[in-house]
Amino acid sequence: MLIVFEGGEGSGKTTQLGRSHDWLMNQFDGSSFTVVKTREPGGTELGQQIRKLLLHPDLAEPTQDRAELLLFAADRAQHVEGFLRPALRRGALVLCDRFTDSTVAYQGYGRGLDLALIHQLNQIATGGLEPDLTLWLDVDVTTGLSRAQRRGSADRMEQNQVEFHQRVRQGFCELAAAYPQRIRRVDANRSADEVFQDVQQILQEAIAQ
Ligand code: C5P
Ligand code: MG
Repeated sequence: MLIVFEGGEGSGKTTQLGRSHDWLMNQFDGSSFTVVKTREPGGTELGQQIRKLLLHPDLAEPTQDRAELLLFAADRAQHVEGFLRPALRRGALVLCDRFTDSTVAYQGYGRGLDLALIHQLNQIATGGLEPDLTLWLDVDVTTGLSRAQRRGSADRMEQNQVEFHQRVRQGFCELAAAYPQRIRRVDANRSADEVFQDVQQILQEAIAQ
């Protein structure tokens, strides 16, 4: 089963995913069931190199939007074939920090690249692999950005551009409306403990099915 955590900056994806991983590991302690966590970009060795390029483009020229899109796609193709599919074949429960919806939200809605092109590229990169469940941690843009700034992860140029992140959030809103079966929205403006209570409930329901 593939469960993805999505959301904008400072939405708490990594925190909630880590807590979920520990909680599920405890629940399945002693059984042969395995829970693994991973992320995009950066879930493989190649992906870690790509992530470095994406986050610290220490280059004299700007990264062009389509070049950036293709780097995310290369990371995903490697991750799907080299990590996700093998783990899923072994029957693992996989928790993944970001997946295809992030590309739609950031490169599509945020940067304005053609959505049909992005869907096509996502299809190529995943070979059709889709999450069984997506938890969208929805945080107000200003709240999320100030959380991200506090922890010092403002490593990308657009990090402080409120309008950019409002478009990204709009992207997640539209995805959630288009895929109501797969995407569950969680109000991530609350404390980590409160958010985690909702996350636990959603995970429990999904796993019981
Ligand atoms: O997942 P994480 O927040 O660590 O992502 C690292 C950075 O990559 C974030 O600042 C996010 O803005 C950016 N990103 C992006 N497009 C994506 C996924 C992530 O610009 N599709
Ligand atoms: Mg994170």
